[in-house]
Order: sequence, then C-alpha cells, then structure tokens
Amino acid sequence: MEQTPKTPPAVLCDLFGRRLHYLRLSVTDRCNLRCTYCMPQGGVPKLPHAEILSLEELARVAQVAVSLGVDKIRITGGEPLLRRDLPLLLLSIHGLKPRPDLRLTTNGRLLEAHLPDLLASGVSTVNVSLDTLRPERYGAITGLDEREGAKAHAEVWRGIHAALDTGRIAVKINVVLLADQNRDELAAFARLSQDLPLAVRFIEYMPVGRRTPFSPGRFLAASQVTESLEGLGPLEPLPSRPGDGPAQRFRLAGAKGELGLINALSSHFCATCNRLRLSAEGLLVPCLFSDQTLDLKTVLRGGGDDEALAAALKAAAALKPRHHMQTPAGLQHSGCAMSRLGG
Ligand code: SAM
Ligand code: SF4
Repeated sequence: MEQTPKTPPAVLCDLFGRRLHYLRLSVTDRCNLRCTYCMPQGGVPKLPHAEILSLEELARVAQVAVSLGVDKIRITGGEPLLRRDLPLLLLSIHGLKPRPDLRLTTNGRLLEAHLPDLLASGVSTVNVSLDTLRPERYGAITGLDEREGAKAHAEVWRGIHAALDTGRIAVKINVVLLADQNRDELAAFARLSQDLPLAVRFIEYMPVGRRTPFSPGRFLAASQVTESLEGLGPLEPLPSRPGDGPAQRFRLAGAKGELGLINALSSHFCATCNRLRLSAEGLLVPCLFSDQTLDLKTVLRGGGDDEALAAALKAAAALKPRHHMQTPAGLQHSGCAMSRLGG
C-alpha cells in the first residue's frame, strides 16, 4: 500500500510531543540594576552593539514564529525598557496576524514613562521584578547603595501603581525567593495580593550563567512559602488555564489578586514546558538549564529566508531535552547569562 508522505508539522513541536507556542525575546543585555542573583558585582561584559539583534531582525523572528503557531511572546532582557525604539518592535508584533499575546518582563524602573507605548501596542501583561517591599533593602539586592536603592524602589512602585491604574494591563510581581534577604517578607508580599488586583509570584532562585556565582545558602524552596503564609488563612488553589505557565496558583480568602509558586528547581515542570528563548545576541536557547543553543543570528545575517528561519526554529525545538538535570542538591551552572536571556 502506498504510504502518504508525512508533511512536516506547521507548528513547533519538540521530540517529546510538547508544542512550543511561547517565545521569549531578549532585546538587550544592558541593565540599569545589578541584581546579585543575576549578575556578578561588576556586571557582565557588554555585547558590542553589532552583536545584538536589530529590531528588524527581532520582528522577523517574531513573524516567522507566529506563522509556526506561537501565540504568546514575552519581551525581556537585560532591562527591555532600555532598548531604544522598543515601541517600534512592540507595534510590529502587535500588527502580526494572528496577533500574539504580547507581554513584558521588566525591573519596573522605567515602567511609568513607557506605559503609553505599552498600551498602544496592546501589551496584555507586565511582570515586574521586585524582591523586597522595603526601600532600604532594595539597594543591597540590586547592587545600588541604600539611597539610590530607595529612590529606585520608589520608581518601581510608581510603575506598578501606574500600570494598575491603566485598568488594561495585568500586573504580576516576580519575587525571587532569597533565604538571606526576603524570607521575612513573604507574608507582606502575600498581603499585597489581598489588597491589590495583581499576582505575586514567588520564584525559586536558580543557578544560571557561569559568571554569576550561585550561593546554595540563599536558596529557599517554594514549598516553604506556603508554610510562611499559614497565619494568613487558607490558600485556595486556582485551576490552571490553557497556556498557563508553570506557576501553581492560589488565592487568599477574599483577595483581589492571587499568588503563584514557581518551583523550577525543587519540582520539575519540564513536562509542560511550552517555550523557546532567543538571547540578545541571537542564540535560540531550547532549555534554560542546557548549554545547547542554535545560532539564529547567522541564519538571519546570512540571507536566510523565512523558510530557513522556520527550519532553524524547528531545529531548536528538536534540541529541547526531556527535562533538566538540576536539583537543589545537584546544581550546575548553565552557559547563557540570565541578563542576556531574560529568565
Ligand atoms: N530586567 C528584567 C527584570 O528584572 O524583570 C528582565 C530580565 S530578568 C533576567 C528576568 C527575570 O529573571 C527576573 O524576574 C529576575 O528576577 C529573574 N532572575 C534573574 N536571575 C535569576 C536567578 N538566578 N534565579 C531566579 N530568577 C532569576
Ligand atoms: Fe536584575 Fe533583571 Fe537586570 Fe538581571 S536583568 S540585573 S534581574 S533587573
């Protein structure tokens, strides 16, 4: 009997049948903070401008990815709001058909000023990284002195409130769990979700990037968050929605917002991984914890057409491992600096 030739899938799938429909684009390696868990004290060497993908190149990748079924794109960095002309990229992604859900991860310092652009380009959600509610602590976490830290903290806080005030952009606060620096603030963060319509997400500290030393003593498992919140009453589990990320979602009774736990290390969520990352210098990174990457910039700059780009995206999808090998007891650094990749 004649076999019907198999047509290659029009969507991005890995070798384990996971559909990849979420692309994270890092648009810069520059940052206006030096978070201790993300960068070494002196920062990481800056990439020469020519090494960073242009906005046109990023827009092309987004367009080809959308043609392969990607329906969610996150802009990240470095600090993405430092990228000159970022609104042009956002608008061009907003114009894609079908229109992907466009999101942004930022440290929030420049958020207030950028909100009109984010609104104009239909950004649905901003994730603001904020690891302490205490202005006097912010500098020690982000590599600033105490005075500058308190000033920057106020900027972030204004950004969060201004984003909430738009009524059109959902706000999530990303809190990296740090045993030495915010363990005593978990309940305060959770109470924020009672008072404000936002999601507070507690994220396990991870070893990423060879240049940033990982301090096992700072690690705090997400499971300890629930213990710390016992005094606040029962945590009602929330169902996961289609396309939801790896966060386990909860709500405190009567809360306006919600809580999320992202236990990247203590419990693998690799089985449901749906994402592909592109670093600022144009490397496709199939797994945050793997050293295997695919150089998309060479394809882009070597005259590759859309088919070649699609083939490269599919090849990167095929490099995704079944799961990462990290455990809290057996941590290894992976190659790509977080500040070039965007978490
Ligand atoms: N600069 C932006 C920001 O801070 O939101 C975007 C880039 S930053 C690399 C993206 C996310 O990665 C942030 O939420 C940050 O807290 C997280 N991150 C960085 N290093 C991390 C680490 N070692 N473990 C866990 N999360 C980390
Ligand atoms: Fe902090 Fe984000 Fe900058 Fe890293 S890239 S130092 S997490 S603000």
